[in-house]
Parts: sequence; C-alpha cells; structure tokens
Amino acid sequence: MRAISLLFHDVYAGNPAESGFVSEAAHRYKLALADFDAQLAGVSGVRADAPIVSALIASRRDMTSTRFLMTFDDGGESYYTRIAERLERRGWRGHCFVSTNFIGQRGFLDRQQIRALAERGHVIGSHSASHPARFSALSYGDMVSEWSRSRQALEDILSQSIDVASVPGGYFSPAVARAAQEAGIRVLFTSEPVTQVDFGGGCAIVGRFTIRRGDRHDAAQRLVAAAPWARSLAWTSWNAKGLVKPLLGPSYIRLSDWLLAPRTSSRA
Ligand SMILES: [Zn+2]
Repeated sequence: MRAISLLFHDVYAGNPAESGFVSEAAHRYKLALADFDAQLAGVSGVRADAPIVSALIASRRDMTSTRFLMTFDDGGESYYTRIAERLERRGWRGHCFVSTNFIGQRGFLDRQQIRALAERGHVIGSHSASHPARFSALSYGDMVSEWSRSRQALEDILSQSIDVASVPGGYFSPAVARAAQEAGIRVLFTSEPVTQVDFGGGCAIVGRFTIRRGDRHDAAQRLVAAAPWARSLAWTSWNAKGLVKPLLGPSYIRLSDWLLAPRTSSRA
C-alpha cells in the first residue's frame, strides 16, 4: 500500500509564538495563515478526493489509487482555532498528534478542544508525552513509557482507544517502532518522505512529507499530484543534503535498515 502523508505543524495569524512550541527551531515549521491557505488551495486544485484517515491504513485494505493524508504535529492550539475549520470547509479531516504533557498549557490544546475535535471527526493521536529532544536516544523502557502515558492521557480525555501516533522530531529507529507497538500503537507516522507503507512489524509505519516555512506555495500540491517526481526529489534531498544524518547521529537508523532488520532481534 502507498499513501502520501503531508506533515504540517502550527499555523499562525500574527506571530509563530501564538501556538505550539516556542523556539526558533520550532518556528521554522510553522506557517502563516496565508501560506497555509495557499498550500490547501494547491492540494484542492489537483485532488478531487478527500484525504483518508489512518484507520483505512490500519485496515490494510487494498486501495486502487494512492490516497493522501493530512497530519499535524505537536498539539498546538492552532489545530482548534485555525486548522480544523479550514479542513472542514473542504469536507476534509486531519490527524492531530498531541504531546500530552503540554495539554492545557499556553498555546496548546486543552481537554475540551481535543474532545471537540474528535467529535468533529478529526483523528487524535499521540506525539509522545514529553516530546523528548531525541526520542530514538531514549532507553527502550522510556520509549514504551512515553507512548503508553501519552495514549493513556488521550484515552482518559476521549474515552476511546487511541492507536495512532507520530514520532517527535522524526527520530525514528526500529526500537521506536517496537516500543510503539508494545504500547498499543497500530499506525506510526515518521518524517521519512516515502509513500510505501511498511507493514513488516505489528505496527504500520507511514512516512511523511514535511511542509515548512518558506516552502513554495505549490509544495504540497506537487507532492500530492499524480506525477511522483516531486516526491522523489523530496526523498533524494532528504537523504543527500547531509542535513539530517549528522544531526541525528548513530542512534538514527534509516527505514531501509528497519525493513532489513530481523523482526525477532532482542530489544535494546
Ligand atoms: Zn513535534
């Protein structure tokens, strides 16, 4: 199965510090409202279909065409105040991944907003509990704990099972996936720009294409369009630019390594 998942963060009207994490690094991923609107208009221009939700991936049902998904990391308040209505206007629903330790803090979603979003059909998922700086560098036990506590926090709010998550900062490794699976996650979104969904483990691993501040207004459009060249370009530059790997260091393992790794290997 292939799926094109877009990854956004917060959206702001005046100042990026309005919603979500406040740091220069975090702000690089936030979009001004006009830029976000332009990205959505671009996607609408080339897709007649609505984005799918992760339950369809978890069902492993064969899809005749490559569908797309809208995902948003961090659990900033802007999902409730800006993003949801813009998706709904198009008849779309998105995935809102929440770092649960921040629920109710300034700039982040509160419990009522999370409940309202779920009632409106948005998918609420975990983005860990504490948003560790380098998730893949945690001990295995800490990884399981991050996923479990975060799931539990959301299940307490929503009184429903939560089985979808995204990896903070894209710090993915086989252990991150195993820990998520052990904590009951069934669909895990990474930040590797690939469309092939990996069902090799018990948990489906789904790559994502990040839209950042300063991206061209047709960036999302080009990624979800039928021609795959923009997606190949994203993958090539992600791998070749030398930006990601040195930053992530030895604890980072490429998805291809995960695909090749024996599934019975011991938990480290
Ligand atoms: Zn994040």
